Amino acid sequence: MSSSIIHADKNSKHAISAKILKLKKEKSAVLLAHYYQESSIQDLADFVGDSLALSQRAAETQANIIVFAGVHFMAETAKILNPSKKVLLPDLNAGCSLSDSCPPEAFSKFVLLHPKHVVVSYINCSAEVKAMSDIICTSSNAVKIIQSIPEDREIIFAPDKNLGNYLMSITGRKMLLWEGACVVHEAFSLEKLGKLILEHPEAKLLVHPESEMPVLKMAHFVGSTKALLDFAGKDNSNKYLVATEAGILHQMMKAYPTKHFIPVPVAEENSCACSECAFMKVNTLEKLYNCLLYEKPEILLDEDIRRKALVPLERMLEISNQSYAV
Ligand code: 13P
Ligand code: SF4
Repeated sequence: MSSSIIHADKNSKHAISAKILKLKKEKSAVLLAHYYQESSIQDLADFVGDSLALSQRAAETQANIIVFAGVHFMAETAKILNPSKKVLLPDLNAGCSLSDSCPPEAFSKFVLLHPKHVVVSYINCSAEVKAMSDIICTSSNAVKIIQSIPEDREIIFAPDKNLGNYLMSITGRKMLLWEGACVVHEAFSLEKLGKLILEHPEAKLLVHPESEMPVLKMAHFVGSTKALLDFAGKDNSNKYLVATEAGILHQMMKAYPTKHFIPVPVAEENSCACSECAFMKVNTLEKLYNCLLYEKPEILLDEDIRRKALVPLERMLEISNQSYAV
């Protein structure tokens, strides 16, 4: 590629970014972005965070328009919390394999088979599944949420079997797991990870709990995207192997420019060999601009489902806020 083409790309990115910022200001819209969004989108956001922090921000915002640079279940969560506000998602096809792995009709049958169980759902699920749940959790607060359930109560955990297995190993609680998984966090290559560890024996391995048990067992630290970022700040090592979606490396490198962050490779060969969530990456600067300009696509929800889904979501926020106050 010639350097003039690279400059043209950069210039057009700058031009569209400036237009997004102007439009955002004119419309007093708030832009919330997940760490897995492309870096140019993260840099435009009013707030970048993990699933918990984003839902907390969405619950607090005064803006009438919320533009969610993330995936569908995240924007839907913002709408559940803000029924009178306009919640926009740059591309409605920004889905999630975890959410897709738990169809509401099948989940309803499963829940009905175990009427006495407390239903804990990971936030990566549809509004319909949330509406069937007793409490929601994210990867930031999952241990705390499970520990808040009385010992004598049995638990259904959905939809992520990997996070569920991790939680069972940490809390000692037995849970009935739904068989869902994140395609991104199941794609790491153990063989390539082993080679990377041999090449960088001084590096610490940071792992997201949506990953499979063999990778989790090798980790120096397991946590949500935000927890991994914070760990790198507090820890005194200089090099980290990062086993989560590669978008988080943008904030890691920005926050700690003297440290080295290496994405753990996936088994499949792709252009960067790092793990990328194709759902997160369907959002682009162009789609973000159009979404702000035309105020669509908009997230719309059935009011009955929204009200039912709000109950377990508010329970989660209440428990999480208590923990933040401690
Ligand atoms: P967190 O934002 O809780 O770290 O979860 C990562 C993820 O996969 C979101 O889809
Ligand atoms: Fe869903 Fe996994 Fe993508 Fe997160 S990284 S949005 S869990 S597919």
